[in-house]
Amino acid sequence: MFEEYKIATLGSHSALQILKGAKEEGFKTVCICLKGNEKPYESFRVADEMIIIDSYKDFFSIEKKLIDKNAILIPHASMIAYLGMDYIQSMQLMHFGNKNILSIEAHRVLQKQWLEMANLKIPKHFSSPETIDRLCITKFHGADGGRGYFLAKDAKEFYTKLAQSTKEYYIQEYVVGIPIYIHYFYSPLTNEIEVLGFDKRYEANVDGIGRIAAKDQLACEINSSYTVGGNSPVVIRESLLPEVFAMGEAVIKASQQLTPGGLFGPFCLETILNSDLKFYVFEISARIVAGTNVFMNGSPYSYLRYNEPMNTGRRIAREIKQAILTDSLSKVLG
Ligand code: ADP
Repeated sequence: MFEEYKIATLGSHSALQILKGAKEEGFKTVCICLKGNEKPYESFRVADEMIIIDSYKDFFSIEKKLIDKNAILIPHASMIAYLGMDYIQSMQLMHFGNKNILSIEAHRVLQKQWLEMANLKIPKHFSSPETIDRLCITKFHGADGGRGYFLAKDAKEFYTKLAQSTKEYYIQEYVVGIPIYIHYFYSPLTNEIEVLGFDKRYEANVDGIGRIAAKDQLACEINSSYTVGGNSPVVIRESLLPEVFAMGEAVIKASQQLTPGGLFGPFCLETILNSDLKFYVFEISARIVAGTNVFMNGSPYSYLRYNEPMNTGRRIAREIKQAILTDSLSKVLG
């Protein structure tokens, strides 16, 4: 009966994992792909069907086709960035996950309120450059893989580095520590939270600066930047795990107060762990994150729970399958 449904996503970000996971659970898969980007989706054999579009705007014209195929769309960050939240909100196509939560996530102020409601430690926000009194990171709107972010310790340095940019910015305390991205899955069918893995990012140029001597760094006046190019797996101190679960549960509880149904499915807390072993959460992603791609074949933690290769993409498909088989599909759509 579940075979009547197809799993679809846009060919980018974590589509290989999403489609592979869906096939492993027995679904047929559809990859909507921008012309010129087909190669990986064909070569890795993850798509039963490819729909090629000339531009992302053309997605709108194939929506009806996807509805006729009984496709369930799995969102990811590139899809949200390319199609836009307004369109996703208005879409009639079956959509895995709560769209209202995606809208809250996309709004920095609402996201901050959500994390505060969950009582998580977050880096201090500076509402104006003039109030900067410590090392800060300046971020720009939209998930663009950390591109263009810069550090400044006071207003003067901030304005020098901002230069002519007119982009909307967000200034946050820079927390010195190690970045840890926590991959969660919350099932609205079992009301249980799962930890599927952890990753860290590999960013240009902060992860490359250490490859040249300090005198050379000074000589060429390098500015730190955080453009993500890839990810690596992490396992964390086992004694931190109780807190990891508690943080995830707090976020779910708070989300249920924010909007009916709250957050469910995969999500990620993006944290910096400092030398006092305190987690500072600088961002939440309310959908699959690209860092889960390091565990295509399962992570140490998903192995503990599932005893079989279980990645986040496959976990999504299993949830959908379970929902269909128990006549509760509406619980995982939104
Ligand atoms: P994106 O919006 O693309 O997800 P992030 O906001 O996650 O980008 O930040 C990109 C990178 O900047 C992170 O991987 C992390 O290394 C660094 N970073 C972000 N915020 C902080 C912070 N408050 N303190 C220290 N490092 C940070």
